[in-house]
Amino acid sequence: MIDLRSDTVTRPGAAMLQAMMAAETGDDVYRDDPTVNALEAEAARLGGKAAALFFPTGTQANLVALLSHCERGEEYIVGQQAHNYKYEAGGAAVLGSIQPQPILAADDGTLPLDEVAAAIKPDDIHFARTRLLSLENTHHGKVLPLHYLAEAFQFTREHKLALHIDGARIFNAVAAQQVPLETIARYCDTLSVCLSKGLGAPVGSLLCGDAACIERARRWRKMVGGGMRQAGILAAAGLYALQHNVARLKEDHDNAAWLGQQLHETGVEVVDQQTNMVFIRIPAGQVEPLKAWMEARDVLISVGPSTRLVTHMDVDRAALEKVVTYWKAFLQQ
Ligand SMILES: *Cc1c(COP(=O)(O)O)cnc(C)c1O
Repeated sequence: MIDLRSDTVTRPGAAMLQAMMAAETGDDVYRDDPTVNALEAEAARLGGKAAALFFPTGTQANLVALLSHCERGEEYIVGQQAHNYKYEAGGAAVLGSIQPQPILAADDGTLPLDEVAAAIKPDDIHFARTRLLSLENTHHGKVLPLHYLAEAFQFTREHKLALHIDGARIFNAVAAQQVPLETIARYCDTLSVCLSKGLGAPVGSLLCGDAACIERARRWRKMVGGGMRQAGILAAAGLYALQHNVARLKEDHDNAAWLGQQLHETGVEVVDQQTNMVFIRIPAGQVEPLKAWMEARDVLISVGPSTRLVTHMDVDRAALEKVVTYWKAFLQQ
């Protein structure tokens, strides 16, 4: 199968499984798991933060970040299409009584700071208290510019807001901007990172931040059911991913650029291509036939009028060459 639906579909390879089997473990709720402790220390070091915490999912890491920054009746400003507004089942509102204030992102994935300023509520009993600005990096494959992050961070200091980055794919930004993670993470209070996307771990996310915030997060994580026991088996996969799968993300970006260019030359409408994602538009009448055509050739794509193709470590250039060949044949029939 050539699976271009998402970079979450990667499977652990032999070396990663070996690392998982060899992991030393303990009870992480007692903080006794040396492998989890090592992963958290490594994430904190890479992000230039005092502490980090291991989570089963990015959704839980984002939820706990919001719970750690905002109390009941407070709000966070967030992108209308952001994962932690739109794709996390309303968890902040349902479980945290935290109100989202969504605003439209600009074409480059940033939230315009004048519009953020306009959305901040005055201190008045009519309003929820605005507490946090939440950004997503990368957002639909787009890397937020460093100068924007610097301005946004300064802005939040002036307005007494905290700044959270949903960095599910932050290492794609690291690969694209060729800077250490710390250079990006210095412009936020907390950063969530997925190990289970392009980094190729089967499970796991991290939340990085200052010591007090991560202590609050540890209590919230326990409350929402994320306190795991011998989690070192999973953390070993995460450590392996951080050590071996960061530098290779550039390959995914090169492959996505190549795929976008080839599809464009084939006559497909390529709307955008950044980092490991290609966005294309497909005429309505082609959606179902293309889906069936590709499935019959062992290619999985989430085909719709607007379609996202995602490259990752389990799809190499040779596989993409096949996809382009099948696509040409589909259009020529
Ligand atoms: C995948 C993703 C998450 C977290 O998803 P999980 O499946 O819960 O790990 C959060 N934010 C963004 C932008 C994502 O793409």
